[in-house]
Amino acid sequence: MDSERPRVRPSLLAVAAQCRLRFVREVGGGVGMVRFSRANADRAFLVGNLVEQAIEQAHLGGGLDGLLHTEPPEGLLAEERWLFRRGLDHYVELAGERPGVPRTPDERFPLIEHSSGRFALSLRLDLTFDIEDGGVELRRLGFGAPRTDVGEDPRVHAQAVHLARDGAAFVQVAHLDLLHGVLREALLDRDRIRRAAHDIGERVLDVLDDPAPQASPGWWCHQCPVLRSCPVVSQQPPAELILMATGEVG
Ligand code: SF4
Repeated sequence: MDSERPRVRPSLLAVAAQCRLRFVREVGGGVGMVRFSRANADRAFLVGNLVEQAIEQAHLGGGLDGLLHTEPPEGLLAEERWLFRRGLDHYVELAGERPGVPRTPDERFPLIEHSSGRFALSLRLDLTFDIEDGGVELRRLGFGAPRTDVGEDPRVHAQAVHLARDGAAFVQVAHLDLLHGVLREALLDRDRIRRAAHDIGERVLDVLDDPAPQASPGWWCHQCPVLRSCPVVSQQPPAELILMATGEVG
């Protein structure tokens, strides 16, 4: 791995379409970046991780029955304990009968390098299962509806590209909303995945090659790590900044 090569996380692919300046600065990393406090989001992330770990262990242990009786870990608040239990109950309901052989955690942390050699796409795979006819199911867990169509999410595309390179004949995407108990699915065949790979490469290189990436304000500014040094936002009157910081402008 060339340490000089820009590393792009799949979550940044959406940023590239929102604000080119933010994308370039986040990929560049480090200087001037300020992470905003996300206490509530971090707690939700923690519960999500605990749910995913319990599910993964159950799959690797041979069955989901134990999930029906799994107690929430110590240290969770009452509503977090409720969320944990609700997540497991909904998972069993939605995925209990789905076919597939689970892949091990070691297979979920690869590093993908785009064939252009110009940047590295680093990612962590969601739960993955080998299914019939050489396919792989990518099972995404969430507490809520996805922001975009599950088959159009660039984070899904990045994973599908890796799985196809690894030999998957197709990728079945299943988004499980563990809060509401809703399943959404999409099928990505190899042609669709090939187009997705092309789109990712074009999108990233188009921004990286831009000699003067523009700042484009929007609702996404409220969590932007380079907001304080942003040439556009720093010109805003204080009232606008407050609205932006709370995500109230779009
Ligand atoms: S604050 Fe908004 S406009 Fe400025 S770099 Fe960040 S996302 Fe872009």
